[in-house]
Amino acid sequence: MVFQNTVNHIKVAKYFHLDEFQCPCCLQVILHPLLLQKLNSLRNKIGSPIVITSGYRCITYNEEVRGVKGSYHLFGMAADIYAPQISLKELLQSAEEIGFSGIGYYPENNFLHLDIRPAGPARWQG
Ligand SMILES: [Zn+2]
Ligand SMILES: [Zn+2]
Repeated sequence: MVFQNTVNHIKVAKYFHLDEFQCPCCLQVILHPLLLQKLNSLRNKIGSPIVITSGYRCITYNEEVRGVKGSYHLFGMAADIYAPQISLKELLQSAEEIGFSGIGYYPENNFLHLDIRPAGPARWQG
């Protein structure tokens, strides 16, 4: 359906469109402007593409992927990402320099969880 390919396809920052953050099950999306700003800064810093594997999640989808209860993904304040052209370690270093309050490092599944939780910092390895 054409509708599904165009809804939320709105440029919201230099390097990102809104649909990159939408929930894959229902196409709903919540996106905190600070998360977007920090991801855009990170993208600018590394100078190569960032792939968002999970942005906003509705409650149903969060349960489906076994996300933690009360996850920041539910509030548009978290994104799971990787950058195909650089190592996860390099991406982690750059994310630290940009300053996300929550950073989860998942080397086995090749992604970082980044969030903008108000209390922090929180660091963990999955
Ligand atoms: Zn959903
Ligand atoms: Zn996550």
